[in-house]
Amino acid sequence: MRYLIAANWKMNKTVAESIDYIEIFKDLVKEVEGVEIMIAPSFTALSSVSILLEKTNISLGAQNMFYVERGAYTGEISPIMLTELNVKYVILGHSERRHIFGEKDELINKKVLTAVEFGLRPILCVGETLEERELGKTMNVVERQIRAGIAGLEREISLIDIAYEPVWAIGTGVNATVEQAQEVHHFIRNLINDISKGNDKDTRILYGGSVNEKNASELIKAPDVEGFLVGTASLDPQKFYKIILSS
Ligand code: PEP
Repeated sequence: MRYLIAANWKMNKTVAESIDYIEIFKDLVKEVEGVEIMIAPSFTALSSVSILLEKTNISLGAQNMFYVERGAYTGEISPIMLTELNVKYVILGHSERRHIFGEKDELINKKVLTAVEFGLRPILCVGETLEERELGKTMNVVERQIRAGIAGLEREISLIDIAYEPVWAIGTGVNATVEQAQEVHHFIRNLINDISKGNDKDTRILYGGSVNEKNASELIKAPDVEGFLVGTASLDPQKFYKIILSS
């Protein structure tokens, strides 16, 4: 299994800024082998970035998607709009979508099913809030989000990657410790192995939450951490490159 190191630029970078970044970054990583690299820019930059990523070792991702092919859904992006641009991955259920935009497990599940139907590879994000962790509910929350998110794809879980992103660690500068990450990743691996009846070997479990060029080499030592989803530190090509080198 090749680890996946993915960048989530969120609502950052104009088209011009995205192009500048990719010009630098694709040269930095051109010799990198053994890990898969993904970048998810803003929707407006997808088209330009897609052209620049042709014949590189970097995959393209989208940060969200709607679950219908076309129609009267003002402001939404459909799966065929993504596949047309050679988008391979789609981040679904990110905690900012859940908490700021009110996305529920049921909606996220529809998006996951549609993404797979259209040949996109979802990265399903799950994770507990600080309050849930303090109440000892971490595993319950993660299990609920996974079971609901992948409902209908239990035997095809290999078509999905999962990102464990504790909400308290996202964008806060406070990352999970190696032990905390490993505990949840191990739980997720056992859970998806059980749900899929052993068909989970191509599903990577990424860690996300304040990963940076200083803590990546430590976090990747956790045996069940199989890549990263990186927000803030991915906005700088040099920092993101160093994270990739540490992995
Ligand atoms: C994210 O948004 O998925 C994320 C992990 O952000 P950050 O790296 O900034 O914590």
